[in-house]
Amino acid sequence: MAKKDYYEVLGVDKNASADEIKKAYRKLAIKYHPDKNPGNKEAEEKFKEAAEAYSVLSDADKKAKYDQFGHAGVDGAGPDFSGGFGNLNDILNDLFGGAFGGGFGGGFGGFGGFGGGRRQERVYKGRDIRVRAKLTLEEIAHGVEKEISIEKNVPCPDCGGRGAKNSADVKTCPACNGSGQVQRVVNSFLGQTVTYSTCQQCGGEGKIITNPCPKCSGTGLVRQRETIKVKIPAGVESGMQLTVQGEGHAAKNNGINGDLLVVIEELEHPQFKREGTNLFHTAIISMIDAMLGCEITVPCLDGTYKIKVEPGTQSGKIVRLKGKGLPALNGYGTGDLYVKLAVWIPKKLTKEEKALFESIRNNESFKPTPNKEDKSFFDKIKDLF
Ligand SMILES: [Zn+2]
Ligand SMILES: [Zn+2]
Repeated sequence: MAKKDYYEVLGVDKNASADEIKKAYRKLAIKYHPDKNPGNKEAEEKFKEAAEAYSVLSDADKKAKYDQFGHAGVDGAGPDFSGGFGNLNDILNDLFGGAFGGGFGGGFGGFGGFGGGRRQERVYKGRDIRVRAKLTLEEIAHGVEKEISIEKNVPCPDCGGRGAKNSADVKTCPACNGSGQVQRVVNSFLGQTVTYSTCQQCGGEGKIITNPCPKCSGTGLVRQRETIKVKIPAGVESGMQLTVQGEGHAAKNNGINGDLLVVIEELEHPQFKREGTNLFHTAIISMIDAMLGCEITVPCLDGTYKIKVEPGTQSGKIVRLKGKGLPALNGYGTGDLYVKLAVWIPKKLTKEEKALFESIRNNESFKPTPNKEDKSFFDKIKDLF
């Protein structure tokens, strides 16, 4: 189910301004609105396409997601036309008022009804398939294309999804005469009441298959393993779900495909903890390095980074590396990397070392004498625990 690019639908450039997008949609709405093209299915489709494209591209948040995820990012949410197309004048007024009226829903409210006394063909929707995508922080930092292998129902190649060997083998159900429902008249003390129930013989479909397709035993569906490429944008988090429209199970009678739902799972990183767009790393330095100062190398998601440890650094000090975190999902900004310096105190000393430290044990400079600034630092790291 390849969907047309929204920018292409509106005939605008990817860098088009909000105003240009609005103008392009206005032009198409005037040209293709069903009020102006009565009975013209092609115009109606074009109008729907344009309205859907505009509903996404006019919304900064949805547009950002669409730019990153493509159609998968905006969940196929378009305007709901189940209540009609709206008055053209209202649409144009709304365009100038800046808002696009009407609810946006992706529902399938229009199917399965009984229209005008005649039974309409029931349209089935295939089930969604939910899979997990395990990602490393490095993959999350840059965005990644994952190949996901799924087993799903697809239309049977032998019968084309009909479930019958030949089209002549699909017959109107004799029990309900094709209505899918059976009438029952019940006599009670209230008088005669008529109840309707789903036809047992055809399961409410109104049709029966006299000669089922041997490959799919009449279901119209077969199982097939497929590999689907899913583009995962940078900055996703555990628990987020991407929807790849139409990549779920096929439905019988060539109905609407379900969706593939990809649930993000972040793998634990050996060196970083993550919170939103920020990363946290603990670097352990020696007591002497903390006293005398040094330069250390800390890991980043895109390599390593050198930081200077000032002489007299206290254990628990936090160094912030701006912009070395993860990009935000919406593309605006990047988080930081926080490095906590923990000082290692030797657990065992040689005789000579012991003698050396004993000789300076009572030196003035080794006595804890925190000033006001140090006190506030110690108070701050106390709060972390
Ligand atoms: Zn078949
Ligand atoms: Zn029936």
